[in-house]
Amino acid sequence: MTTKHEPITPPTHLAQIYELLTAAYGHPAWIPDNDPLGGLVGTILSQHTSDLNSGRAYQQLVTLLPTWEAVRDAPPEQVAYAIRSGGLANVKAPRIQEALHTLTRQQQEQEDTHPLGDFLFHELKKRAPEEAWQYLRSIPGVGPKTAACVLMFNMGMPAMPVDTHVHRVSKRLGLIGANVNANQAHEVFARITPPEWVYTLHVHLIRHGRQVCHAQRPACEHCPLFIACAYAGGVSVYEERSLRSH
Ligand code: SF4
Repeated sequence: MTTKHEPITPPTHLAQIYELLTAAYGHPAWIPDNDPLGGLVGTILSQHTSDLNSGRAYQQLVTLLPTWEAVRDAPPEQVAYAIRSGGLANVKAPRIQEALHTLTRQQQEQEDTHPLGDFLFHELKKRAPEEAWQYLRSIPGVGPKTAACVLMFNMGMPAMPVDTHVHRVSKRLGLIGANVNANQAHEVFARITPPEWVYTLHVHLIRHGRQVCHAQRPACEHCPLFIACAYAGGVSVYEERSLRSH
């Protein structure tokens, strides 16, 4: 992660990948919804389930308990009942309530009386992305990926969520080292990615991982990134090209 106005010059390899990705998949609009608490709860609900099931669980939760204060104060079994379609309800319900209680304690310390969602929005807004990421991670149940998702999708802040697709594809492409784990990859992307590229890079790497660069049998022969890929065909094309150029 980086401070708000610090410019980043990307490595040549990343710049080439970015160019190829946008040539293949375009420039998606980055439109955050300014609802970090909704995003935080939604991301917790999305753990270990499909988007469809977690979306359903989220809708049932906000229908049954229409404010985050109501979710916080409800009996745990009522929250678990509301989110049951998302799976692991007995794990996720206390996780959500604990996060809400933590934010409430912080809000009370500051004698803030806004709705809890507004409180979190302002806490994040007043921080640089790196600090905002660390702040979210200090909330129980919020890991590096969840924190980055909230910042990127809900706040429009440059933090790169590294899920299984982003991790696998960026390793194959040689954007991160073979031994860099997903948590470390957040930090690597923060150092090398211009803030305005983060969203596009994230959504395109996921799309590419789902559609082309599958975990088993990546479709290298149809891949628009082939010429820049370190893994393509099991041969390090990128490394070979580097060697030839020296
Ligand atoms: S060339 Fe193959 S390994 Fe490299 S990104 Fe494309 S599909 Fe993945």
